[in-house]
Amino acid sequence: MSSCIRHAYVHVPFCRHRCGYCDFTLVAGRDDLFDDYFTALGVELKRLSQPIELDTLYLGGGTPTHLGPDGVKRLFSEFHDALQPSPVAEVTIEANPLDVTEAMIEAFHACGINRVSLGVQSLNSITLEKLDRDHRESDVRRVMDLLRESDLTVSVDLIIAVPEQTLDLVARDVEEIISLCAHHVSVYCLTWEVGTAFWGKRARGMLTPVVEDLEREMYELVIDQLSVAGYQQYEVSNFAQPAMTCRHNEAYWDCRAWEAFGPGAARFDGRKRTTNVRSVSAWIQKLLNDRNVTGDVDTMTSEGAARERLVLGLRRRCGVDRLAFFQASGFEVDDLAKKPIQEWVAAGFAEDDGRRIRLTRSGMLLSDSLWSAVL
Ligand code: SF4
Repeated sequence: MSSCIRHAYVHVPFCRHRCGYCDFTLVAGRDDLFDDYFTALGVELKRLSQPIELDTLYLGGGTPTHLGPDGVKRLFSEFHDALQPSPVAEVTIEANPLDVTEAMIEAFHACGINRVSLGVQSLNSITLEKLDRDHRESDVRRVMDLLRESDLTVSVDLIIAVPEQTLDLVARDVEEIISLCAHHVSVYCLTWEVGTAFWGKRARGMLTPVVEDLEREMYELVIDQLSVAGYQQYEVSNFAQPAMTCRHNEAYWDCRAWEAFGPGAARFDGRKRTTNVRSVSAWIQKLLNDRNVTGDVDTMTSEGAARERLVLGLRRRCGVDRLAFFQASGFEVDDLAKKPIQEWVAAGFAEDDGRRIRLTRSGMLLSDSLWSAVL
């Protein structure tokens, strides 16, 4: 294990129920697997050849807080010897509003967690119901009051382009989130994944996606409201108050190496992405029987890695500095993407001062449709 790795992700694959749009690696209603999960995680962590000192640690899922306060403490005791956050590390946990209590916040402090990513999604009861979420807006308000009294950094996830959602409802969601004083907001358009309950309902005409123009208007509205309130859009989907950016995500976008543990978790060594088997029970059984849990291995060519670095860089507000890009990747930006960049600049989707290329606001709005010209 390379000692230059400073970032780690731990996947906690449990939820109370599966929301209709979600295709993440998880099991719902299988709390009977907690003990085996902890044991298996311990086995996977022991495979590290040496402990890693971390700048960032991210506990995602699933819903890590579904483990309960004692479960969160047990999780940290499992990786205590292997993953060691530095005194100034960012340690994030994803949380469901229903799970955040005073006891849970006490567990966060006891474990050194200093950042909470709260799955709010909306503050409107109809939108929450449409999304098949199990919390209500009053839960969010209660939890935000609790979190404000702690010294934890709070990030909030918001979903837009929900069936039957209007611009007015999106505006009200964002207003409420601003009034609740979140430090960081991540905004995603609802995606329709094959195999989810939503996918099936859409096929049967029971759910209708928001039309593209309205989706774009919603996203623009979010950008406007959050920027007026002092949040900087530092990446296509991410907004932060000053100095509140997510350092863990920035490590991903900088293509730094990271370690990962848990079912479906993907680690990256700078060139190769290795993903664990996605099935929770297969991941547990393999580890309990001391077998390999590697699923997919994706080894990129140096050019492929450079192209991915370019896209991740362009998704960020700071854009891509040509010299820094060459030093990090060994490739010139213009050898990889001169023509598309010229076209984007001509169309008003990007700015290029010869040193740095950045997407404009309209480029950010379209970004997903731009990347095929680079990858
Ligand atoms: S709570 Fe989050 S991870 Fe769990 S099922 Fe719902 S969307 Fe998926």
